[in-house]
Amino acid sequence: MTDQPFDPARALASARHDFGEHGGVNPSIEPSTTFTVVDPETMPEIFDGRRPPSADGSGCWLYGRHANPTVSALSRHLAALEGTEAAQATASGMAAITATILALCDRGDRIVASRTIYGGTFALLRHFLPRKTGIATTLVDATDLDAVASVLDATRPKLLYVETIANPTLEVADLPALAELAHARGARLVVDGTFSPLLITPARHGADVVVHSLTKFVGGASDLTAGAICGDAAFVERLSDLTEGPLMLLGPTLDPRVAFTLGQRLPHLALRMAEHGRRAAILAGRLDAIGVRVVYPGLADHRGRETLARIANPGYAAGGILAIDTGSRKRAFALMRTLQNEERFGFIAVSLGYHHTLMSCSASSTSSELDAAERDRAGIGPGLVRISVGYTGDLEDRWEQLERSVRAVGLAGARAA
Ligand SMILES: *Cc1c(COP(=O)(O)O)cnc(C)c1O
Repeated sequence: MTDQPFDPARALASARHDFGEHGGVNPSIEPSTTFTVVDPETMPEIFDGRRPPSADGSGCWLYGRHANPTVSALSRHLAALEGTEAAQATASGMAAITATILALCDRGDRIVASRTIYGGTFALLRHFLPRKTGIATTLVDATDLDAVASVLDATRPKLLYVETIANPTLEVADLPALAELAHARGARLVVDGTFSPLLITPARHGADVVVHSLTKFVGGASDLTAGAICGDAAFVERLSDLTEGPLMLLGPTLDPRVAFTLGQRLPHLALRMAEHGRRAAILAGRLDAIGVRVVYPGLADHRGRETLARIANPGYAAGGILAIDTGSRKRAFALMRTLQNEERFGFIAVSLGYHHTLMSCSASSTSSELDAAERDRAGIGPGLVRISVGYTGDLEDRWEQLERSVRAVGLAGARAA
């Protein structure tokens, strides 16, 4: 799995290009939700699964919620990017996560998940699923492999769920080791790669299913909500099965117009990720040098640094996100206020992967689904400010804005204190 180098940007570039109906350089958008047949005999064959749509143009399309050519084209490109046999784009990241779990788990099955995960996923696993389905999740420190092994042994789960780079503490999952632990016990490894598109290719390191929120870096402009599920062809096909597929039956279908727009963002994703990463690495290094408590998986004192160096694809530094531990909610708010309202360094907003810098205090926003004790265990301090580093403006100007702000709030030299 890890023996051959994989270059996601190159894999994406060599995926088949779809021209438009009239020879346009862009693919056409297929907005239709239903598709005609010449001969009525064809219809029962479609329902029997004997005429699946295929990339070479043979086979038949049936209905928009089941499959759509424009959504399928995007999905094919996402599979190329992730190095998986197949993929299915969905209406949101949460739709991708939910459908994946429901495809792999039945009532009463168990999940083991990292205790440091996106707030929505946390609420789904810990509150919604147990109540509605009896699918129960045990949380574990995924960076402690011994702890993972013993929880896997004790609970015998269907799947192990982690994020590549965890939100918001930027812990790095040791995917090869986690895959080995899971597979040895018959569990699948499901990985959320939202924080690290291109930087980490989870399927190359043993992940069975890779989910994404395309709302973040892949969309890149904070104007679209979408997700993706990448995995082997049989698994992805099952998601849209007419009688059993969670995507088919729950219906979180991506609109073809949105799929088209997302497809237009993929060709420059590598350029954007490289610049997000380059800038985040420089800013993190300089913050560190003036004694700010900064969290970035490329820094020498970050616990995940070596793991990341082992699994990362080159060219994207250690990702586009850093965090500053200000120590208290009051200082976190003061820092964000200064950065936005005085320095115009970025916006106070949740989400990430936007062209401009976005910052949020995780404990009181996107991780507020966790209670105080759960946040504590997950390492999410009340003063942790997550910063998704944008690529607009001059980098030296940005550094001056950031440096003035951390000094104004008294964060320079805080690490030594
Ligand atoms: C945003 C996010 C999600 C959810 O994605 P949506 O597109 O908002 O549904 C899942 N996982 C991570 C890590 C995220 O950042």
